[in-house]
Amino acid sequence: MSNANRDVWVFVEQREGSAAEVSFELLSKGRKLADQLGGALKALAIGHELDEVVRQAFRYGSDEVLLIEHEALRDYRTLPYSRVVGDLIAEQQPRIVLFGATFIGRDLAPRVASFTRSGLTADCTDLKIGDASYLRRDYTDLLLQVRPAFGGNIIATIITPEAPVQMATVREGVMELVPQPTPRGDRVTRIPYEPRATDNVVTVLERHREERRNKVKSAPIVVAGGYGMGNQKNFALLHQLAALIGGEVAGTRAAVDAGFIKADRQVGQTGLTVRPKLYIACGISGAIQHRAGMQESTRIIAINTDADAPIFDACHYGIVGDAAAVLPLMIDAYRERLK
Ligand SMILES: Cc1cc2nc3c(=O)[nH]c(=O)nc-3n(C[C@H](O)[C@H](O)[C@H](O)COP(=O)(O)OP(=O)(O)OC[C@H]3O[C@@H](n4cnc5c(N)ncnc54)[C@H](O)[C@@H]3O)c2cc1C
Repeated sequence: MSNANRDVWVFVEQREGSAAEVSFELLSKGRKLADQLGGALKALAIGHELDEVVRQAFRYGSDEVLLIEHEALRDYRTLPYSRVVGDLIAEQQPRIVLFGATFIGRDLAPRVASFTRSGLTADCTDLKIGDASYLRRDYTDLLLQVRPAFGGNIIATIITPEAPVQMATVREGVMELVPQPTPRGDRVTRIPYEPRATDNVVTVLERHREERRNKVKSAPIVVAGGYGMGNQKNFALLHQLAALIGGEVAGTRAAVDAGFIKADRQVGQTGLTVRPKLYIACGISGAIQHRAGMQESTRIIAINTDADAPIFDACHYGIVGDAAAVLPLMIDAYRERLK
């Protein structure tokens, strides 16, 4: 890999002039990567009337905002967005480009990677800068792209040493949000957009947006249940506890499959990633795919009948016992305290 450019770019996804939270999480991570590389962190913002997006991009650590504003770019559309992002990356060759693993990011990143012949790893759970040897060659300052692989049975560190531009997508909630005490930079570089006929092959007639139906992602307390809760009646104890302490109820995939809870409350590799102040895991074995979605919680309490359950390796406080017996005691204790 020969790329003297040490800059980190983050594609800032926006809808109606508001940036997606995942973009700020990526800027927060991008700040650390850029500092390690000794490069600049640049936010790439595309749309129309993006003053607020620009302001926020600086708040989350950008040194510079690359701004492409045009009425025709107000809403995300695959062809114009992938063309302008692809052209810009091909021309400027940043070292790293990060996208949210959202509907938009998953549509955009592979097209741009293919056009620019860049390496791309989807759904990373961690990103680091490090050295690596590959085919008897030593590489320095590579992007180490960490993600579960083979159905979550291993955690793989993926490198793309031959690609001058290394790209990754990351799901919402995986990286920590770190606003800067004061904005880092203030340089806005405007890049002109020249519409082409091929950009308008698709016309957006109408947009329907469904708001997120629950608050599990942002809840400070999550009370989660697994297959070990056994039945709906026991699962109702989780709702009681959550209501009492101001938490949201979530579950494992096995709990979803058993019909204990709706799929939009599933935590884990194929569900939500949460980092609440307190995560109470009840009747949850602690499979790697579940832990991927909750292990960054500040405090984890686990209740499980099996003292050897892997969840006990991930928790701060463990209770070996029947959740159906322990939860009523916790509910009584909290009720007493909250009187
Ligand atoms: C590609 C892939 C993606 C996946 N994505 C996800 C994901 O996003 N989220 C997710 O959760 N899973 C996911 N899974 C599934 C994951 O591998 C596990 O199967 C799942 O997390 C297990 O859920 P569980 O802990 O509820 O059930 P189990 O593994 O069956 O564990 C139940 C636990 O409850 C305990 N128990 C039993 N009775 C009691 C009791 N009375 N009181 C207390 N404890 C009790 C048992 O000791 C056991 O540890 C994925 C799997 C794959 C292959």
